[in-house]
Order: sequence, then C-alpha cells, then structure tokens
Amino acid sequence: MAKSGFLSKIGGVHARVGAASNLMPISQDSVRERLELLDNFEELKLGWFWATDAKGRLIYLSHSAIETLGQSADEIIGKSLPDLFVPDKDSDPGKAERPLPFLLSARHSFADMPARVALPQQDEEIWWSISGKPQIGSDGTFLGYRGSAKDITFSRERERDTARLAQYDGLTGLANRNHMEKRLTATLIAYKAAKRSCALMLLDLDRFKAVNDTLGHPAGDEVLKQVAQRLQKVIGSDCEIGRIGGDEFQILLPDIDDRGQLGDIATRLIQMIAQPYSVNGNRAIIGASVGIAIAPYDGLDAEDLVSSADLALYSSKSGGRGQFRFYSSELKEGARLRKQIEEDLRDAIPQDQLEMHYQPLIQAGSNIVKGFEALMRWNNPESGWISPGIFIPIAEETSVITELGEWALRRACRDAAEWPGDLTVAVNVSAVQFANEDFVQVVKNVLESSGLDPARLELEITESVFMADPHATKRMFARLKKLGIRLALDDFGTGYSSLSYLSQAPFDKLKIDQSFVRGATENGSNNAAIIDAVVSLANALGMITVAEGVEAKDELDLVVNRGATLIQGYVFAKALPHNEVLQRLEEGRLEYDIVGPARHRSERKTVFRRVGVIHEDHRYEAVLRNLSSSGAMIEGILNVPKETDLVLDLGEGQLVVAKVRRSKEATQGLEFETTLVSDGADGLCTRHRISPYALAAAGMPLQALPTGYYPLVGNDGDHGPKSRPQFLEVTTSKSAWNTD
Ligand code: C2E
Ligand code: CA
Ligand code: CA
Repeated sequence: MAKSGFLSKIGGVHARVGAASNLMPISQDSVRERLELLDNFEELKLGWFWATDAKGRLIYLSHSAIETLGQSADEIIGKSLPDLFVPDKDSDPGKAERPLPFLLSARHSFADMPARVALPQQDEEIWWSISGKPQIGSDGTFLGYRGSAKDITFSRERERDTARLAQYDGLTGLANRNHMEKRLTATLIAYKAAKRSCALMLLDLDRFKAVNDTLGHPAGDEVLKQVAQRLQKVIGSDCEIGRIGGDEFQILLPDIDDRGQLGDIATRLIQMIAQPYSVNGNRAIIGASVGIAIAPYDGLDAEDLVSSADLALYSSKSGGRGQFRFYSSELKEGARLRKQIEEDLRDAIPQDQLEMHYQPLIQAGSNIVKGFEALMRWNNPESGWISPGIFIPIAEETSVITELGEWALRRACRDAAEWPGDLTVAVNVSAVQFANEDFVQVVKNVLESSGLDPARLELEITESVFMADPHATKRMFARLKKLGIRLALDDFGTGYSSLSYLSQAPFDKLKIDQSFVRGATENGSNNAAIIDAVVSLANALGMITVAEGVEAKDELDLVVNRGATLIQGYVFAKALPHNEVLQRLEEGRLEYDIVGPARHRSERKTVFRRVGVIHEDHRYEAVLRNLSSSGAMIEGILNVPKETDLVLDLGEGQLVVAKVRRSKEATQGLEFETTLVSDGADGLCTRHRISPYALAAAGMPLQALPTGYYPLVGNDGDHGPKSRPQFLEVTTSKSAWNTD
C-alpha cells in the first residue's frame, strides 16, 4: 500500500471527524450518532467488523472489507471466517500462536492475529490483523463471535524488509555476518544433540584490494556480486553461504566430514574464483584462500569452530594464497608461538637483541665482491637465534616492522659507511614500510646521519608493494629515485610476477629467486629456460640481475653461463657479522673462493615419526619411515606376517586400516584400505577421523579432538578381554636404520 494513500486516509478522517465535532459534540448516549461514527470508520477502511453465528458462519462483514476481497456480500456471508484467509501452512509447531480455526473452535478470545487474505490474484498480498471475542448469552449458551479486523499489509512489509536487511547482505544477497553467526550457533547446538557433523569453510579473496584500488569501488562491488554467484554455483542449496566482511565469506556445509570431499569442494571454489571477471569492459583477476574446520572434531561450538577455521585460513594465506587448509592442532601450536614471538619482538630493539649480518654479492666471472645484502639476525634470550623468515612476517602483521625496518636501515648505512671503495649495501624494505608516506624522510635522515653516498644504498623490495594503491606506489618510487638511491626487485618469480610491474617501476636490479636456481641443474627442469628469459628481459630493460641462493658449483656454472650479473649464495659465503666483513675488507680480500659442493644434492624427504600400530587388542609403537596416499613403511615390530590386517594410528584421531604387503624383520610395507587425501599443505591426512561422539560414548569427555593419541584406541583401553600380544616390539633409533 502506497504511503501517500495511507496518509491521505488519515487526513480524511481528521477532516470529517473534525468537521462533525465542530458542529456539535457527540452524545455518549446517542445510538444514532455513535453508529454514524462507526459507519465512518468502516467506510474509511480504518478497520472492519465481523460477526459469526454459533455455527461459525459469517453473519456480518463490513461492506468495505467485502469490497477488498473482490467478492459480493452473498458470496461471503455464510462462509466460515477462516475461509477468508490463506491457511497458515508454514506455521511451525514452535510458533507461539495457535491457528485461527483452533481458536474459533475452542471459543477463545483472540487479539491482533495476523492472517493473509485469500485473493483471486495469488501474487497480490494483503494481510489483516483480526481480533474476536465469543458472545455468550445470558443463559450461558455460545452465540457466536464478534470482532474487528484491520489492514496491516504495509507495516508487515516494512517489518519484513527490516528483518531481511538484518539478515542479508544488501550487495550480494548472501546471508550477513549476524545471520551466519546465529545459523552456526543454532546448527551446532542441534547437531551436537543429534551427533551430526558440520563443516565450516572460511574463504578470503586474494588481491581484492587491488581491484578496488585500480578499478574503483563500484567495480569492486560488481566483482563481489559475481563472486557470490560463483560460490552459489559450486555450493549446494542445503549449504548456507554468507558474506561476513568486505571480502570474506563463510560457508556452512551440514553433514560433511569427509576431508577428501571437502578438499575437492575447496579446490573447485578456488578455481572458480580465479577465473577472470569482466567488469564494465575491464578484466579483473583475483584469487581465494580457504580454511576449513569440521565440528565436532575441530570445535564443538560456534566460537571454537570459527577460531579453528580462522587459523586454517591464516595458514593457507601465509602458505602462499590460492590454497585451502584443514585445521589441525599444530596450527594452534603455531599460533601460540607466533603470539610469543610477537610479544618478545617488542623488546628486541630496546634490549639490543638484533644484529645485521652481511652476505656478499659477487661479480660473475671475476668472483670479486661488489656489495652486500644486509640481513637481520635476532638472538632471542630464550629460544636463541630466530630466522628472519619467521619473525619478519610477524613483525609485518603487527606493524613493529616500521621500527625494525628503520633500525635495520640505520645500522646497515652506518656499517656500510665504514667499508672501503664504492661497495653497495642492499637493505630489505617491507611493503608495510614502503606504503608509509614518511618512509622517504626516514631514508633521507639515515643517509644524512650516516654520511653514506646515496648511490651506494640499494633498497630491496618485493612485488607485494604493488598490492597497495598504485598512485601512491608510483609516487614513492619517484621520490626515492630522486634521493639518488638504487632499487632492486627481490624474489622475482615468486609473486604474481606481472611483467607490467617491471615497466612501471624504475628498478636497477632484478633478483632471481632461489627457487629457480634450485634444481635448475636437474634433468627435465624448466628453471634454466626461465633464468634465460628473465636475464634477457632484464637486459632489455637496462637492469642487472642477481642469481640468489646459489649453493653448488654446478648451479654457479649454470647461472654464470646464462648471463647473471651477480651471484649471491652459500657457494661463496653466508651472511657474516659486521666485524668479520670489515676485517676481510680491510685486508683487501675482495675476491671470494668457491666453497660450495660440486653438485647440488636434492634433499630427500625422510619421515621420522612415531605412530601407533593396533593389531587385535594390542597396541604397538612403531616409526613411520615413509608415507604415501596409498601406503606406508613402518619399522619397530618384528616378523609381522604378510597379509596381516593392522590399524595405523597417525594421531589426532586418524586411524588407517592397512594390510601388510611386505615384511622383513622389523620393517613392513603397508597398503591402505582407503587412500589418504591432501591436507592442503604438503602433507596427507585421513578422510575421516575418530568422532568425538564415539570417544565420548567410550567414556572420554565430549570435546574437540585433543592432540596426540587416545588411550581408548588399542591396548590401554579397559574394554573387554585382551589377547596376548603376538609380536615383539623392538626399539628403533634413528641411527640404527640410517642407511644413507
Ligand atoms: P631474502 O631477502 O630473499 O634474503 C635472502 C635469504 O636467502 C637470506 O635468508 C639468506 O641467508 C638466504 N640465502 C642466501 N644464500 C643462500 C643459499 O645459498 N642457500 C640458501 N638456502 N639460502 C641462502 P635470511 O637471512 O634467513 O632471510 C630471510 C628473509 O627475511 C629475507 O629473504 C628477507 O625477505 C627477510 N629479511 C631479512 N632481513 C630483513 C630486514 O632487515 N628487513 C626486512 N624487511 N626483511 C628482512
Ligand atoms: Ca632480499
Ligand atoms: Ca630474495
């Protein structure tokens, strides 16, 4: 109902009632005058009256109400009241209100019952609110009902809109955060009682900010809408999808706990989202990272499950994005460590725990040092030396990086100023520092206070700086170049490696990431060809190249032959403390010897992990020698015959049914009954785990799966008679079978 119509009606009442009251007061005793008032009320459709006889048949309905129904009085009179309304089919049993027919037959009074009017045109919706009171004669007999009704269509629509707004995200039409929270909480409570499982996926878009920054917010909105549509395409209708933040989505998948199936779904989601988007004639490309947690295994209530899925998402993002990850208790331990490091880092500068070490950059061919890269070292009083590969990313998340980065720059320039000649110093700069407007001023101050020639300072930045606002980035490049310093693009080839970055920014040097050097000498590797291409590209753009992480003589030969300008790697030297570097320089030893091995040896991945092996009622300890998706080699139990059925306990509730296929002394080759699936990282996991419900039924408290092994699995349980162990356990030490 239009607002203007509604208001004009109110206005009309005022006019008429007002006019009447100006004429003379209506006497409370005058039946005629009061009837006239009621007539007015009915005519203006402010409300209607109705009455039924003892049999429930309508004997009266206001004329204007009959008009609304689109029928004649003859058709209406004699019907039962509920016939005028659409039966309330979806009234759920939990609803407080009783349906109208029930109230009438029980002869109850009722007030403000909403009911949808039955209309010949089904798409139109009119709602009335009805009230009624049974009429009892002086002798106590039931005479029928009298009541009133009014139109509530407008306020109902408004209520419904408000409710929708409160539950759904206006942009994508998906459930909003609030609604998802309620849904998840309610589902988990119900599922706990019913011993059902439910998976939760958190999905976060990668590089979405870049779309907003380069194409504008309306384009970003359009991409989000398309993302929502793609999600709906992959995810079945029995699952709920919500947008819970700018570019963060949540998916609730009831009754799935198969990690193989969930991994497949996550992979499909990631692939779908990575397809290009077309927005107003522009192409946008984004990615997605997914974290998965499953109730009851990884959390019983909403809070725990969400925090588990969060940890898994965090791990998939830091694992390189565009990946999925299952929650595991290791992640929780990792998060604890991260927090510890975060706290300890605050003391690192004030307590003088940081140092800068310097690794030489050597000229290809002559083996003469041309400069050094400054690498930060942290001596933590409790844990000893912590790798910058671990603490720098944490510092970047907590913005401590600004302080660390400034300290590194200051120290490196001060040290380099003591070096003879024109040796350069390369300092790593985090994207967080780079995005800070003050950064240029910091560099300028440091140069002034150290007295270092700007031409000798080089800043190493990674492609991640291009994720920020492109205009600000461009301005930053220009301002830095104006100081007279040099710029290097670090880790080239590991990021998004858009060639357009190279032409956008004034780089002097390109550092080829060590992942291309590693294995470049192996047969069938494309890496040598990639190095070739990168070197010629850099030459064409007037940049010099550094091959990073060169460890062996064969790798050195390869990168030198492919034309790399400079070499950095253990083949010449690791990063050394400043006093050692200075001493060498003062002795004039600028040429470096090749100290690396002749050939690069690929690391063999050996597994050394304790596992449980269950045979009949007995549990043995063994060591896992290797593991593939279809089988494993274990060591530690003597002379287990071929074809023996065993259960391997991989910990964390992961049991694998296996058959012994090969057996020699204390070593057995096992074949799994069901293959393992990817855990999203490099590892493997079982599709299913022991359900916490089953553990609870066996006497453990109901909780998410704890770490390690469970005493109830295997011989430590006290259920039923125990057979005697049939095999002899032997202790294996790592050295005992270290054959290589
Ligand atoms: P990066 O900038 O790529 O630095 C090169 C890393 O490779 C260094 O690790 C270096 O020790 C290592 N490396 C050099 N040659 C070889 C080799 O032949 N084989 C192998 N396997 N590794 C080699 P490091 O010192 O652990 O630093 C790790 C990362 O931490 C650096 O990677 C850089 O991204 C970051 N980082 C270190 N210092 C700083 C700093 O002062 N500021 C910032 N923002 N980041 C820093
Ligand atoms: Ca670097
Ligand atoms: Ca690097």
